[in-house]
Amino acid sequence: LVKGLENLKDKPAITTDNHKMSLVVNTGLMSDVVRSQDLGAEGVGLYRTEVPFMTFGRFPSEIEQAEIYRQQLSIFAPHPVTMRTLDIGGDKSLPYLPIVEDNPFLGWRGIRITLDHPEVFLVQLRAMLRASEGLNNLKIMLPMITSISELQTAKYLIHRSINELREDGLEIVEPEIGVMIEVPAAVYQAHHLAKECDFLSVGSNDLTQYILAVDRNNPRVAELYSSLHPAVLMSFKHIIDQAKLTNTPVSVCGEIAGDPVGAILLMGMGYQKLSMNAASLLKIKAVIRETSLTFAQQLVEKVMKVDDESIVQAIVKAELKRSG
Ligand code: PEP
Ligand code: MG
Repeated sequence: LVKGLENLKDKPAITTDNHKMSLVVNTGLMSDVVRSQDLGAEGVGLYRTEVPFMTFGRFPSEIEQAEIYRQQLSIFAPHPVTMRTLDIGGDKSLPYLPIVEDNPFLGWRGIRITLDHPEVFLVQLRAMLRASEGLNNLKIMLPMITSISELQTAKYLIHRSINELREDGLEIVEPEIGVMIEVPAAVYQAHHLAKECDFLSVGSNDLTQYILAVDRNNPRVAELYSSLHPAVLMSFKHIIDQAKLTNTPVSVCGEIAGDPVGAILLMGMGYQKLSMNAASLLKIKAVIRETSLTFAQQLVEKVMKVDDESIVQAIVKAELKRSG
């Protein structure tokens, strides 16, 4: 636990002007889950299911997956657990599904792979749904969505899985289905995507990479990679504004949500749910409890007018200092 912050565990993430934020965690390994339990997290905003897949030497079966998913769901119940469907490709590969490409981040990734391999996708979907029986706190989230048709096909396969399990006698409650907004095309189509699903979640790690055309893992261009670049901030603002048109809940699950400055700016834009690594949770809660929504909104207003990231940083620093 972060030193000195333990006493915040059971306190709400509420600003000095009484604005409540929802803080949830990103998980992958069981160790993340155990740590999150000590922190009073209100559920899981991103469970990276490719992490358990990496511990196998072959595709895990429906029953093997269901057992792992059931653990996540039962530990956090009744809080929701947002399970992201397999997101491999790019920098993440499975030894039993080697992918060799010139441009992996622009290639066969995330939903593209699972829609090309419905036999893998359907097993995973059935495992998630099977695991949720009786708990009913599952949400399903789709990575790397670039077109409405991908969402529609995925939804069709989810409903097919629900029907199959119901025919087998399982009592399956329909989960909420959400889309990750992590490619520029999805930003521009956020309104349409929001109409077709139950929630959106901003994957700021990939979105930053794709908006700036900067590899998120390449040290040579690491200086150019920043989620506070004005163009990236504009995309965050556009997404929340579009989601509001349909009253679709939208959260952020990339690293920016666990960054104090990022969290304040996101709150000022209107985001109410932030998902982060367990290690950041109490720090972000402390920051929110010391800030007001009004301050965050005024900061956003100032920051959205500037044209360079270094000025964004300078304004934030000066304003934080001024407000004490
Ligand atoms: C993201 O892209 O911001 C995200 C949360 O997913 P990942 O880091 O697993 O790609
Ligand atoms: Mg991503």
